[in-house]
Amino acid sequence: MAPGFRESPVTAEFSSRKPMNQPTHPASAAPTRLPPVATLDIKFFWDACDREELVAERCGECHKFRFPPRPMCPHCHSLKREHVKLSGRGKVYSWIRPQHPMPVGFAQPPVVALIELDEGFRLVSNLEGVAFEDVRPGMAVEVGFAPTMKNRKVPVFRPVQGA
Ligand SMILES: [Zn+2]
Repeated sequence: MAPGFRESPVTAEFSSRKPMNQPTHPASAAPTRLPPVATLDIKFFWDACDREELVAERCGECHKFRFPPRPMCPHCHSLKREHVKLSGRGKVYSWIRPQHPMPVGFAQPPVVALIELDEGFRLVSNLEGVAFEDVRPGMAVEVGFAPTMKNRKVPVFRPVQGA
């Protein structure tokens, strides 16, 4: 456990929920997604994705989320930071399907979505398990993890069944 890590109320509240972790490709097919580019400030995020955990950085003083992660809190200017596990749940805020140029590593154009996380900030990700035409604003989604080249994983979101 990293110094400064604290169990958050969010973690406790959602710890019983299991995100969907099924791979999006058959095991025999090598992943074609590009791996994440991990700079020092965001290495913790991608390392957690490899463990199939969605995490974020919070200020160690005022406990507001810092997203994207950065060295100094924009609210109180503290350099303290803590990493907390998120619920992995959210709602679709907006979405597009890029057509040209064709995104590298995808057989079909992916749905790129802005997900409003339950924790109150937004994350750009891909939406899977739903046709582009069936995506609706406010659709409840939960995180899963898709394999990439170089044996890494990236978060993707899928509709919550029965929501
Ligand atoms: Zn702060």
